[in-house]
Amino acid sequence: MKARGKRAAAALLALALLCLCACGGNAPEAAPAETPAPEPESTPDPTPCAHPRYVDGVCTVCGYACPHDWAGGVCKLCGNVCPHPEHDERTHLCACCGEYAAHRYRDGRCLRCGAVPPFCTGTLPEAYFAPSPEQGSIETIDFRSAEDPADKKARKKAALVYLPCGYDAADGERRYNVVIALHGAGGDEHGMMDKVHIPNGGDGTCFRLIYDRMLYEKLCEPFILVSVNVYSLVEENSFTGYGEKNLAGRLRTLILPYVAGHYNTYAADPSEEAIRAARAHFGLIGLSNGALYALSAGFADNFELFGNYACFSGNYPETAEAVIARLGAPDAAELPVYCFITGAGTTDFQRENTEKRFDLIADACGGIVRGENAFHVDVEGTHNWKTWGTESYNALLVMFQNWN
Ligand SMILES: [Zn+2]
Ligand SMILES: [Zn+2]
Ligand SMILES: [Zn+2]
Ligand SMILES: [Zn+2]
Repeated sequence: MKARGKRAAAALLALALLCLCACGGNAPEAAPAETPAPEPESTPDPTPCAHPRYVDGVCTVCGYACPHDWAGGVCKLCGNVCPHPEHDERTHLCACCGEYAAHRYRDGRCLRCGAVPPFCTGTLPEAYFAPSPEQGSIETIDFRSAEDPADKKARKKAALVYLPCGYDAADGERRYNVVIALHGAGGDEHGMMDKVHIPNGGDGTCFRLIYDRMLYEKLCEPFILVSVNVYSLVEENSFTGYGEKNLAGRLRTLILPYVAGHYNTYAADPSEEAIRAARAHFGLIGLSNGALYALSAGFADNFELFGNYACFSGNYPETAEAVIARLGAPDAAELPVYCFITGAGTTDFQRENTEKRFDLIADACGGIVRGENAFHVDVEGTHNWKTWGTESYNALLVMFQNWN
């Protein structure tokens, strides 16, 4: 796979022979017009060649195209990793290797099946309110000690970290997308993690059950989700619209470096440069007042570090203006928005606000295109956790999809 220099020669050789490879190979699709198309049965195998080495599924000695014998998405014969070029829209099974492959959306459609994102606009299926057969784990971290261990007076800067099932800290090769979750007024770090929301129309919504089920169903790539205590980071007694500069600074200098330094993220190291280079793999989800902070402290103030934004049930004129101003800055052209999704409950007092400002931002910014990297999806319900559980499900379907 690494010996690119031989790739072109091997491909040319494969042209004269047969390529049985149905996927993943780089073999030409058709022979030149003057050359009769080779018959599939003419593949000389077994041949005198033992096929000692394959590059991209083609034997470097004789040009034999590996017929591929897949096991777990890897060919037992040539070692090729299946890119899952097509899959069944419902079962998600790869047409090539038979393995489960999640939807991969780009420009609003799945590259593997053409489906549009299956947003939920009502109530999530019952399975999302119960434990999944496979469950992630939750760790608690105290950012206060990371920031200043001697500062005993500082408010506890707690965060909960969701690690997906199968996460192996020792496996540095495997990389994970990172979501920073910002709760709303009156909430804390448990709200978008392990708290079961029953009163006030929560209907038993528990976010970690949603994360577990989505990953069990392989609806998105595995992610690390960090639910922070927003109060402790804004350091203001009042919540709405205050302390966003404190939060923006702490996201940049405390939270993101800590996460990049302690978990297997796409950032090569905890430096700002490394996080910026991996911003396609960093996202924010905020709800209610947390949405205002995701827009102000995230989208407007840390646009270099986050490429994905989900903002539910909240958007004020100032936050929309700040985002539009940031996206109008000269360097914004090199900083793609990979995902911008907003939404609210259909009877949510913030519904109109949220959609109106989504439209303002989408209309003003060329890099934000409805149906491609930007979505506004309302959910049946009001300003409560059940709505936000469904909205978070919708966001996780389409975040982190447009990387190359
Ligand atoms: Zn060979
Ligand atoms: Zn093979
Ligand atoms: Zn496959
Ligand atoms: Zn698909």
